Amino acid sequence: MALLADGVSALFIDGKMLSGSAGTFPTINPATEEVLGVAAEADAEDMGRAIDAARRAFDETDWSRNTELRVRCVRQLRNAMRDHIDELRELTIAEVGAPRMLTASAQLEGPVDDLGFAADTAESYVWNQDLGAASPMGIPTRRIITREAVGVIGAITPWNFPHQINLAKLGPALAAGNTVVLKPAPDTPWCAAVLGEIIAEHTEFPPGVVNIVTSSDHSLGALLAKDPRVDMISFTGSTATGRSVMIDAAATIKKVFLELGGKSAFVVLDDADLASASGISAFSTCMHAGQGCAITTRLVVPRACYDEAVAVAAATMSSIKPGDPSDSGTVCGPLISARQRDRVQGYLDLAIAEGGTFASGGGRPPSREVGFFIEPTVIAGLSNDARTAREEIFGPVLTVIAHDGDDDAVRIANDSPYGLSGTVFGDDPERVARVAARLRVGTVSVNGGVWYSADAPFGGYKQSGIGREMGLAGFEEYLESKTIATAVN
Ligand code: NAD
Repeated sequence: MALLADGVSALFIDGKMLSGSAGTFPTINPATEEVLGVAAEADAEDMGRAIDAARRAFDETDWSRNTELRVRCVRQLRNAMRDHIDELRELTIAEVGAPRMLTASAQLEGPVDDLGFAADTAESYVWNQDLGAASPMGIPTRRIITREAVGVIGAITPWNFPHQINLAKLGPALAAGNTVVLKPAPDTPWCAAVLGEIIAEHTEFPPGVVNIVTSSDHSLGALLAKDPRVDMISFTGSTATGRSVMIDAAATIKKVFLELGGKSAFVVLDDADLASASGISAFSTCMHAGQGCAITTRLVVPRACYDEAVAVAAATMSSIKPGDPSDSGTVCGPLISARQRDRVQGYLDLAIAEGGTFASGGGRPPSREVGFFIEPTVIAGLSNDARTAREEIFGPVLTVIAHDGDDDAVRIANDSPYGLSGTVFGDDPERVARVAARLRVGTVSVNGGVWYSADAPFGGYKQSGIGREMGLAGFEEYLESKTIATAVN
């Protein structure tokens, strides 16, 4: 059966596809501004029912102890998504405005395949570790450390890479034995709701293990964070919302896992191939119109080559035209909404007010009156103190900043409230490695290396988050540790 066949998506609660008690809300194609269809609009009571179902599935079934069933279900989800991959691709392009080329990797196929990593990890995981016999306080005792699921996970996700983020939470959380209530972003309800359809039709997940609650109302996320029946919040989104989630979760001392914003630096050392590094930096900032939390949006270059770096970045960006995301050659599609486009435009206006200049772009592309597009933009003439250089813009906007040597480059890169990612380019491997080691961030690319993969943890220092997603560390975020000490004679 085709997914979302009638243009209406449902809630998925306790194994059933349900209408939203508050009606429906539209989902929009950001490239055309057309309404694609509608999604179920949940209210607070729907959210309460979903939490209740997840609680019961955790407390009253053997889900958390039946590793074989869990591994089978996660693999079934992966295989069923693979079977629907072309439908999912068209949906993702239409709802997210994701360039088609990215659906072969992080926008779709990567995270679907990575469900296999979560299942494999659960299958081979050492759930019990025997510390052996000892006599703490003089009492002969055998100690076993058991790892077990945390419980009910509230997963709250953004719109920019919906499959990546939804599945990087669902995969490990479920494989580890938790039950989940997923509240996706209001801008991309369908990318989440299709999971409910696929799970209902093609998998053996017991009712209540996965629940998906779509809503245009952000406060449903806050309900998840506050609810005493929820054991842990796994949140990806902006730092401001993450702070609010932490405050809400504090009342019940829940575990909080946060993947937040970034303002990452692309550091070019003075022995690097400046033209090639500046071009790569500009190109990567245009990917998905800059709507990636780990994109390196500050290009930090030797002062002596500043003008050359700006010129190369501007030439690269000028050659990348914001385009139809369904075209296979498009790198830079639309922003997700008029609100985001206006927010980015606000930062472009701020850059000029702060004394910066545009070396390319600077506004909406004249050729695209329809769709939420912004021209790839290079900002020159600002220091790292400018708000434009410190705050997350989340658009195809690169700020070029001068440095006075390796120490200064490290200082500038680390002079940020964020600490998500970074890049270093240079010719001398030892020197590049020294600089990479000094960056206070969760992932570093050196001379073009790629850190994104199922087995590599991803996450941030400082205000970019708490905890790690993906890799073994991402699996273990969803586990408690219990020590069982048995007296021996
Ligand atoms: P957002 O913070 O506005 O929303 C994220 C989610 O939180 C949505 O589902 C939203 O409905 C929900 N939400 C909003 N207010 C809430 C509240 N008070 N309590 C609970 N939930 C609430 O973020 P966004 O605009 O959807 O996404 C863009 C942001 O996400 C950027 O800052 C980006 O850097 C960040 N992001 C981070 C990562 C990462 O892994 N570090 C990945 C992708 C996006």
